[in-house]
Amino acid sequence: MPVKCTNSCNNNAVLKRPKTGDKLCKECFYNVFEEEIHNTVVNYNLFKPGDTVAIGASGGKDSTVLAYIMKTLNDRYNYGLNLILLSIDEGITGYRDDSLETVKRNKVQYDLPLKILSYEELYGWTMDAIVQHVGRSNNCTFCGVFRRQALDRGAMMVGANKIVTGHNADDVAETVLMNILRGDIARLRRCTSITTGSDGGLPRCKPFKYTYEKEIVMYAYFKKLDYFSTECIYSPNAYRGYARAYLKDLEAIRPSCIIDIIHSGECMSVKTEVKMPKQGLCTKCGYISSQTLCKACVLLEGLNRGLPKLGIGKVHRGKGKAILDLVIQETLSKQSSMASLTNSSSSLNSTDSSAPNKTGCSNQCDQCECSTDETAKKIQNIAIDF
Ligand SMILES: [Zn+2]
Ligand SMILES: [Zn+2]
Repeated sequence: MPVKCTNSCNNNAVLKRPKTGDKLCKECFYNVFEEEIHNTVVNYNLFKPGDTVAIGASGGKDSTVLAYIMKTLNDRYNYGLNLILLSIDEGITGYRDDSLETVKRNKVQYDLPLKILSYEELYGWTMDAIVQHVGRSNNCTFCGVFRRQALDRGAMMVGANKIVTGHNADDVAETVLMNILRGDIARLRRCTSITTGSDGGLPRCKPFKYTYEKEIVMYAYFKKLDYFSTECIYSPNAYRGYARAYLKDLEAIRPSCIIDIIHSGECMSVKTEVKMPKQGLCTKCGYISSQTLCKACVLLEGLNRGLPKLGIGKVHRGKGKAILDLVIQETLSKQSSMASLTNSSSSLNSTDSSAPNKTGCSNQCDQCECSTDETAKKIQNIAIDF
């Protein structure tokens, strides 16, 4: 006996809504899904008419649904936005080249302009080349730091004044958990913000902040959206992977846990004496940075000097100390041969990331600013000890 749609629309239900458990027909599901996002956009004033909005588009499910929804709502509610797809080509053969083909099809399907910007043109390195140098375990850190800047730079190139990303409620809840588990109070305070980056970079917003990942998958599936579903071939399974698995277990027992964790993160108050990083500008490239050199410049310095492994590392304390000694030796000998180098103190530090490091970034490259920030900060802090 078919079950009727909870919305009393007289259609048969075809799905059980993950967020609420409501049994809905396809049309009613599309409707609640779209309207919730529209309400988020309106309630949080995410956009102004005339904004040029770069949609971070990877070809994956989140960003593909985001592009589709932004286009749909912009047309339906006359947001007055100029939408542009912005893709970052990390240079990962067999992964990004395929997913970029998806984005190129989305450009045609959604009739939106597309800008593709590569790590190679920005930094002189593809991820394939970086992985050859640093190995597979820590490459996500490089990728996360580089991508963050690349999105900003790409958005500025196309004249955008805002960036939207496909981060969903699950991603935000995971980040809250990770920041609690790491004791990263500064990040805990801002990781639930729906708009970030207004303090120097372009504002970035997350229209899917309250949208469940399972519903995004369901929406893409029923709408038959064209997306690319392979995981990054380099993604290691680190800290976020555990937080993610834990969250999925909780969700299975109590679906509202995702929203509840976000709500807890939003309401948590942080003591005023917690030190927050001060934003300045990178002395080398001018990108916003709380240190003399921005994270990308620190990492590039290491790569270009042939010491990339030393930039980042997931090393146990004891072993880390031995490696650190080695790095210091190596660094100091380099330093003496480059005595004239100015500003060397911060760049040198890139070498010693082998310091004990709480985490490497994990599978979700798009979502890994947190751990990469953390790592880069540590790298630079160690420099000060020199
Ligand atoms: Zn219905
Ligand atoms: Zn820089």
